[in-house]
Amino acid sequence: MTVLRKNLIDGEWLGEAGSRNINPSNTNDVVGEYASAGPEEAKQAIAVAKAAFPGWSRSGPLARHAVLKKTSDEIMARKDEIGRSLAREEGKTLAEGVGETIRAAQIFDFFAGETLRLSGELVPSVRPGVGVEMTREGVGVVGIITPWNFPIAIPAWKIAPALAYGNTIVFKPAELVPESAWTIVDILHRAGLPKGVLNLVMGKGSVVGQAMLDSPDVNAISFTGSVGTGKRVAAASVEHMRKFQLEMGGKNPLVVLDDADLAVAVDCAVNGAYFSTGQRCTASSRLIVTAGIHDRFVDAMKERLDKLVIGDALDAKTQIGPVVDQTQLKQDEDYIAIGRQEGAELAFGGERLERETPGFYLRPALFTGATNAMRISREEIFGPVANVIRVKDYDEALTVANDTPFGLTSGICTTSLKHATHFKRNSEAGMVMVNLPTAGVDFHVPFGGRKGSSYGPREQGRYAMEFYTTVKTAYTFAG
Ligand code: NAD
Repeated sequence: MTVLRKNLIDGEWLGEAGSRNINPSNTNDVVGEYASAGPEEAKQAIAVAKAAFPGWSRSGPLARHAVLKKTSDEIMARKDEIGRSLAREEGKTLAEGVGETIRAAQIFDFFAGETLRLSGELVPSVRPGVGVEMTREGVGVVGIITPWNFPIAIPAWKIAPALAYGNTIVFKPAELVPESAWTIVDILHRAGLPKGVLNLVMGKGSVVGQAMLDSPDVNAISFTGSVGTGKRVAAASVEHMRKFQLEMGGKNPLVVLDDADLAVAVDCAVNGAYFSTGQRCTASSRLIVTAGIHDRFVDAMKERLDKLVIGDALDAKTQIGPVVDQTQLKQDEDYIAIGRQEGAELAFGGERLERETPGFYLRPALFTGATNAMRISREEIFGPVANVIRVKDYDEALTVANDTPFGLTSGICTTSLKHATHFKRNSEAGMVMVNLPTAGVDFHVPFGGRKGSSYGPREQGRYAMEFYTTVKTAYTFAG
């Protein structure tokens, strides 16, 4: 029997079956059925979140700590089960699903601690006898809109700080991954959140998401997703003069220099470009390789790619799971065709694969002979597709790395301290990796990019406070 998951509004589970969730490793497997909210439910969720804000924002740190800590503990205790469910609905491997679940637990643990560390400043005024306090307060109702590729970690890194700093929430997850979203909300709800503080509205972006964008009662929106939707969030938010934060796409460069350790470079490139089926905003989709190591690097990449096990996400031997759905698969295949038309050579993979169950299996694709001007080097594909761009030296590599509308992550593989240091200082990205994959980041430090990749304050770590709080400056003359 298929389970029916409902929306959470004002502490009540509501709604009728509206959509089905399909396992991309086996399209005969229905993960569950989910309520699909309309504009009225979205408005109701916003109204109850508004009503819950005064109480929650003035609750003491212990109340918030208790909920966040309990949530972290339950997620950690159920990591294998939740990780498996995540892999089943999204298609990342079991190891990746469990790893992401552990990360969500760590994030809730981190922000549980932050509730007890909130502090302000007290300074003397320029006027004798007057004291000035600077404190931080919650912003109000926060709209949280998330993509499908990190179904539990991204909701966690938005919901945890929003709650920690006293905000109330209307959460709209991506249509493709409602089970992970529902699970995290169910845990938080049972952990003791007062009604109305966290509301879940599953449904279409164009309906539920749009109702959130159009509401004057949503005081801040934290969005992760595509550039196109991000621009809509920005335009609608300016209209209402609300705070907004956007994390969007990437076309992240990994530079490989002649002096790189070849094994390290291949590890970084395979992990960065293809793990999680390449469906990461931080994926290394441009491999910028200097001439002296180019041919050895390409040969070693092909050898490694040939050994990767591509299959059912729930099979423990699988290293690369399926693409998330038919639409994304078509986009990947279209870009592979575009790359060939543009004159790049498909040096490995790119073809559909048959497995025991019907699913969206694609062999990782590696293009060589790509230029940075090609569409496959400029537009985000969001699949297991990477291009090798040959350059003559470090200077050209840096220029090509920075020549992109995006600026989320970048990486360099080198044994030269001089080039590594220069790259860290001159790469136009929010996150820079030396001898590490461009994807894969810590949960306790800031995450975010520049240019077309991000807008607004950073997410994660203590820096998350900037978005989820507003500063108050209070003056007191005690007489
Ligand atoms: P998307 O923009 O299609 O959807 C993101 C969310 O926005 C979904 O919940 C969707 O329902 C909602 N939405 C759609 N239309 C809306 C509207 N009119 N109003 C309000 N909400 C609306 O993105 P996606 O396909 O789910 O995710 C893939 C994208 O996310 C990629 O571009 C990827 O790079 C990006 N991403 C970025 C980061 C980062 O931190 N920079 C992390 C993960 C994913």
